[in-house]
Amino acid sequence: EVPKEKAIDEVQAERFSSVNPIFSVSYKTPIYMERAAFQYMFDKYGKRYLDAYNNIPHVGHSHPKVVETGQKQMAKLNTNTRYLYDQINAYTGSLLRHFPKPLNKVFLVNSGSAASDLAIRLVRNFTGKKRIAALEHGYHGNTNSVIEISHYKFAGKGGQGASENVLPLPMPDIYRGEFQAENAGTSYAEKAIQKIRNSDGIAAFIAEPVVGCGGQVPLASGYLKEVYAAVRAQNGLCISDEVQTGFGRLGDFFWGFEAQEVVPDIVILGKPMGNGHPIGAVVTTDEIADAFNNGMEFFSSFGGNPVSCAIGQAVLDVIDEEKLQRNAKEVGDYYMRELTRLQQKYECIGDVRGAGLFIGFELVKHRLTLEPDTALAQKVKNELRNRYILVSTDGPYDNVIKSKPPLCFSKENVDEVIHQIDAILKQS
Ligand code: PMP
Repeated sequence: EVPKEKAIDEVQAERFSSVNPIFSVSYKTPIYMERAAFQYMFDKYGKRYLDAYNNIPHVGHSHPKVVETGQKQMAKLNTNTRYLYDQINAYTGSLLRHFPKPLNKVFLVNSGSAASDLAIRLVRNFTGKKRIAALEHGYHGNTNSVIEISHYKFAGKGGQGASENVLPLPMPDIYRGEFQAENAGTSYAEKAIQKIRNSDGIAAFIAEPVVGCGGQVPLASGYLKEVYAAVRAQNGLCISDEVQTGFGRLGDFFWGFEAQEVVPDIVILGKPMGNGHPIGAVVTTDEIADAFNNGMEFFSSFGGNPVSCAIGQAVLDVIDEEKLQRNAKEVGDYYMRELTRLQQKYECIGDVRGAGLFIGFELVKHRLTLEPDTALAQKVKNELRNRYILVSTDGPYDNVIKSKPPLCFSKENVDEVIHQIDAILKQS
């Protein structure tokens, strides 16, 4: 006899009996997942979901090359980093080939948060200063020092407010922010520079090239160039958080900072790097890495182990072999065109934005007032789920639908998403 699957509420109750609900699940009635392959996920009841949401399985859920590489390496050698082994040399070499020259040192860790945390240590060590300038609505991770610079957390529900260690800067958002004209990047930069000058010195400026938790907001054009110059003029460092935007997702660029024609001093990596296996990294310059080498050993039990490095290498290989950056560009451009077409049809789509397969669209009550329609965004997310499509919502008003699927997403997948959004908005 085939065992009957447990009911969702039973599984949820079991989870919450041992895992606090603050470690949250999506949807009022969560999805009871069983397995996944490429851009599809399957629940315990055999239903197939199109994953238009998850950017961690970058090259596709359970990609066979990544899985097999991990399995083989796990069966052969996994150890801490205190020995010589080929995998770390091969991987860090391959990774650095994707960076401009000055960025030639890698620290391997196990998450985006650990990478952000280490980046904060590096900049404080290098500059002797403590305060970090960071964008409003930005998120950089879950450790104490990183929460302190993540406006999304310290200014959000349950947050403690801004501490003296952070200098919050307005998010350079050309849709909803203060400046929208052609030269908005310069106007936002001037505002940021003024704030930096008025502070008594910062160790670093950190930003995501497209602010994910802020609602997929691309930084206004030209912004980073001007802010980086001003930060460096006062001996501060510049950090690009590429945890969400890196590894070709943006289509035109392998890293988001390239879109703004800058080279950071430190880059933070995570999520897609291991396609779900927990690896993160800090990439920086010789000078910054050397200054950190003050005699106190830096050790990570798992960071840079042979299995993680082999998996990281397999991810880079698959991006290359399957031309996934190009796919992100082609399918992403098509996705944006189709969403823009829907925007012409429905007044409630106020803005469509993003690059490659890192896309967001805002739902508003009025195009002119930009009054956010949070309820409609929730409705679209939930109705899409009922139609077996996964997306999420975010932004300061939680009215932005986010779509950042595995890079193997196809135009047919886009057609399905668009068709269903059209059907939902038609009824709204
Ligand atoms: N930076 C950014 C931009 C992120 O989106 C996240 C995770 N959402 C992190 C850092 C932290 O990464 P992790 O969850 O792997 O610790």
